[in-house]
Amino acid sequence: MPNGVRNTVGQLTDQVRGLHIDMSLKMWTAATTGTPEALDSAAKSRAAWMRYWADPEQYRQVKAWDEDGEAGDDAQLRRIVHLLHLFFAENQRDPATIDEMTELQKVLDSAYTNFRAEVDGRRLTANDVDEILRHENDSAKRRAAWEAGKEIGPRVADQIRRLAELRNDGARRMGYDNFHRMSLILNEIDPDWLFTLLDDLAAKTEEPFRRMKAEMDSELSQRFGVPVEDLMPWHYADPFFQRAPMLGDYDFDALFQQRDLVALATATYDGLGMDVRDILGRSDLYEREGKDQHAFCTTIDREGDVRTLCNLKPSLRWMETLLHELGHGVYDKYIPTELPWLLRSPAHTLSTEALAMLMGANVLDPEWHARILGSSSAEAEKAGTLGQARFRLEEVIFARWVMVMVHFERLMYEDPSRDLNALWWDLVQKYQLLLKPEGRERKPDWATKYHIALAPAYYQNYLLGRMMSLQWDGWLRRHVGGIVGRAAAGEFFRERVFALGATLPWNEGLEFATGEKLNPYHFARQFAD
Ligand SMILES: [Zn+2]
Repeated sequence: MPNGVRNTVGQLTDQVRGLHIDMSLKMWTAATTGTPEALDSAAKSRAAWMRYWADPEQYRQVKAWDEDGEAGDDAQLRRIVHLLHLFFAENQRDPATIDEMTELQKVLDSAYTNFRAEVDGRRLTANDVDEILRHENDSAKRRAAWEAGKEIGPRVADQIRRLAELRNDGARRMGYDNFHRMSLILNEIDPDWLFTLLDDLAAKTEEPFRRMKAEMDSELSQRFGVPVEDLMPWHYADPFFQRAPMLGDYDFDALFQQRDLVALATATYDGLGMDVRDILGRSDLYEREGKDQHAFCTTIDREGDVRTLCNLKPSLRWMETLLHELGHGVYDKYIPTELPWLLRSPAHTLSTEALAMLMGANVLDPEWHARILGSSSAEAEKAGTLGQARFRLEEVIFARWVMVMVHFERLMYEDPSRDLNALWWDLVQKYQLLLKPEGRERKPDWATKYHIALAPAYYQNYLLGRMMSLQWDGWLRRHVGGIVGRAAAGEFFRERVFALGATLPWNEGLEFATGEKLNPYHFARQFAD
């Protein structure tokens, strides 16, 4: 029987590869142009992808093979059959539902890609809003930019709610309580394990977060001339308080003013023995009207065509983002092409996020400042000391923000018809300790976050990924002395991480690489003492 299975898997692979390449190319064109034709064409291709995985016959067949062990003792074939089973299961839907979902996703895609906040008749990019929240000291102007950025919410909220219901319909037909639980389980994350872990981390970070936020608030209060108890969400550094505000007088952005971010990123990866020039050559790096405001990395064919989209500015944040996206890029690039095509992907989304975040964090590492940025040793030490404090603050702030996102999604999918506006602000108050501005209970602020609409059940990957990256980082410090400029660190990733592709479940892959499974100990020790 394995031969029959092998032949069918071969045919499936050809079909999936064709659909994947078509969809990736069309989504790339849509993201880089934002035209109605491109968005329409990407939507059609995504619909074809969804219809393919919705095939009930195919699903029944791979499910039976998986459950009856029909793949024999070929470990790779067994893994492929299991992954096919999970993916078909996640996508079982009737054609009418697929059509409706496609239409909704297209409308949302276009809304997020083309939305620009308007203040006094000026159209602001997401970068412009970030710029105001970073540098403006006038509270009224900050508030105007923050509120303008939230105007996307009312335009998309109803569609997101409908999409959540459709996602739930599919999940319930498959016997799951709701889409969120199904998506976690079929992506090899046990929801109950996840929520226990989040509660544990919430408890461990509560005190440190209160302490850090109190210090931060007293500085922000001075800066804006506003009493601490009157600090509002627009007094923080970004629309969601997911990053740390710039504190102290040290100007990290100034370090990048006259620098070539692309050259710095290339040198960073050269230091690991990884070449990113081909990736950068295919990428779209600078902002433009009509272009997606976010950043991402994509592998078009799993055969070397890896690209990233950024909106680079000479700032700490974009330096970090470029290193982050290229982290996804090298993971994709260096998965051996000898692996079967269906296993030629990262072990899990959280694994590729782990590498991306680890590489992004270089910008706060004293060694990176000395070796890559070429700072004097005194300068590198100063940036490094402040950088490490900032890293800690960022991680705790980000962990609390992930808790808002994951719990919001959990509760939204439990009942999409509930009062989501109130739920959002309850969670923001609970985990981020922010004040709710007056009148926001009438605004769907939850809908302003792209991931809620179009990257559902995804956000936990960032926190789990950070935890994984700390475990790699600890291993590398013990065995090869660190990461920056060390070819041996590059070898670790190529031989113990990338080489596996998706042949092992992510947690077994982590154990293979470092000798232990994912645990909150490393995170708690580094950030929550
Ligand atoms: Zn990422």
